[in-house]
Order: sequence, then C-alpha cells, then structure tokens
Amino acid sequence: MHNANDCIFCKIVNKEIPADIVKETANFIVIKDINPVSPIHLLIISKRHYNSILDVKGEGEIYGNEIFGLCGELAVEFNAVDKGFRVAINTKEDGGQTVDHMHIHFMAGRRFTWPPG
Ligand code: AMP
Ligand code: ZN
Repeated sequence: MHNANDCIFCKIVNKEIPADIVKETANFIVIKDINPVSPIHLLIISKRHYNSILDVKGEGEIYGNEIFGLCGELAVEFNAVDKGFRVAINTKEDGGQTVDHMHIHFMAGRRFTWPPG
C-alpha cells in the first residue's frame, strides 16, 4: 500500500476517510471536489502517492495515457463533450497546489476565463 503519513488523498484512496467516488481505475480514483469551483468539479487522484507530477518521472507515459483517456470518459459521463471542460494540474507554490498528492482537476458546467487568476 502506497501511503504517505497524514496525506488526505492517500486516506481517501485507502478508504480511511469518505469521499464521493465517481470512478476507480487501476491507477486512479476519481472523486467529487469537496469545495467545487464549477458545477462539475472532479479530482483524478493517483492511487500511488507522488508529491506532484514532478515525482512521477519514468511512469509518466502510462499516467499520461490514462489521464487523457479518463478525461475523455468523464467528458462523456458528465455531458461535457459538446460544451467542453477544463483540466488543470496545480503544481507547487506558484501553481497553487494545496494538497501535495498528485491530482488533476476536471472542471465543467460553466464558461472558464483565460488567463486564470
Ligand atoms: P489543489 O489546490 O490543486 O492542490 O487541489 C486540492 C483540491 O482538493 C481542492 O480543490 C480542495 O477543495 C480539494 N479537497 C481537499 N480535501 C478534500 C476532500 N477531503 N475531499 C474532496 N476534495 C478535497
Ligand atoms: Zn498521498
């Protein structure tokens, strides 16, 4: 079991604390964000603990493929194919990362602006 002490996402992956689980694959769990910024706000969380995408390194090819595939599936399942969605990976301080366990935001259901704040 890949577990970092006191990591909230590891606890969610290990079902030690509850979450609204949308989907589970071999390497990821998808949950609803507890503090959504859009009508659909999901988190694609790696089952394995990495502090950020910077730590994924050699496994990036597998993860990248799975993440792209999952985004496509979620777009269909959450009815975001026509209007679209936004995917974000906040990384470290300047990226605005607040939970140091690699995750991808999948957001849909409203129009997002660019540039982000
Ligand atoms: P980030 O700021 O990019 O690291 O994203 C962390 C996200 O995790 C935020 O959008 C939080 O609202 C969300 N979050 C934190 N704790 C939980 C939790 N227990 N269940 C679901 N989402 C959470
Ligand atoms: Zn973790």
